[in-house]
Amino acid sequence: MKYSITFFLLFFLLALPEVGHVDAQTKHAPGSRGSGAKKKQTVKKKKPSKKTGKKGKKVPEHVWNKTPMLMKYVKPIKNPLPGMDRECIARLRAARIRFDILKGVKGVKTPLKLYETKLGGVVYRRAWNNKTAPWILDCKTVENLIIAGKKLRAYGIASMYWTSAWRYSYVHGTTKLSNHAYGRAIDITAIDGGFGYAALIGGWERCGGCGQGCPSKKGRALRAAVCALKGSGIFKTVYTPDYDALHRDHFHIDSPNEAHKLKVKVKPEHYGKVEDKKEDTPPDGDKKIDKKNDDPDRNHWNDQEPELEYEPPRSRPHHY
Ligand SMILES: [Zn+2]
Repeated sequence: MKYSITFFLLFFLLALPEVGHVDAQTKHAPGSRGSGAKKKQTVKKKKPSKKTGKKGKKVPEHVWNKTPMLMKYVKPIKNPLPGMDRECIARLRAARIRFDILKGVKGVKTPLKLYETKLGGVVYRRAWNNKTAPWILDCKTVENLIIAGKKLRAYGIASMYWTSAWRYSYVHGTTKLSNHAYGRAIDITAIDGGFGYAALIGGWERCGGCGQGCPSKKGRALRAAVCALKGSGIFKTVYTPDYDALHRDHFHIDSPNEAHKLKVKVKPEHYGKVEDKKEDTPPDGDKKIDKKNDDPDRNHWNDQEPELEYEPPRSRPHHY
């Protein structure tokens, strides 16, 4: 054992400078050694840093979707602020919809962060190609989706797969803000139900009306979805693949009609009065629970900067 350890140590001591020598030769010009090699090494290190500096200045970042940068201003609040649609909030509360009222959502009059995925009996599922978009909508959009639920279910539609709700961006190719920026639009890429899973891509068929003349069940269901949303005037606009190439893979559901309102019994408590004193002193029995809920640091929001500054392309999986 002793011999083997001493042999190893000797070998290590002899080999060490050689390794260093080889390393210096491969990194730098042949023949350079010692202090000369070190100088060259420092010169080489400076060059890439200059390059990256130039790159950073050169690339002008045109950000078409500013939503991720705006998320840091978004905070939940307990009571609606002046200018918000308190009537709409009250109706949703009466309908037992779980949500947070938000402040700081740029462009949106009455922004809500939903804790419901089921609206009017239809499940709103996050589409597979969208992991980062916030589930934030204007109150009126939420209300009209609930109203549309009955009609969608009547056509056998169980779920809607959404890719975009509130999104602070322009209409493609213009400098006009999209209705997504006002929380008044939602993009749907697919639906499911008794007919199976029907995506707009591959499922949309050239058949008119509410799908009566469509060759397949899926094509019929997709046409029926448009009728449920738009035909009754619940939403004024629904863009389909028939509208233009930009909508080949999704329905753009837009402009909820103010005339449609949920038929619910609204009670005074649904309006969310400003009663800070009562909220600060909860009844004895619930003190522990309410303390937790009152803690401003304990909320559902992620303070970390989002990984992506943009939305990934819609029609392609992440790994492409
Ligand atoms: Zn859209």
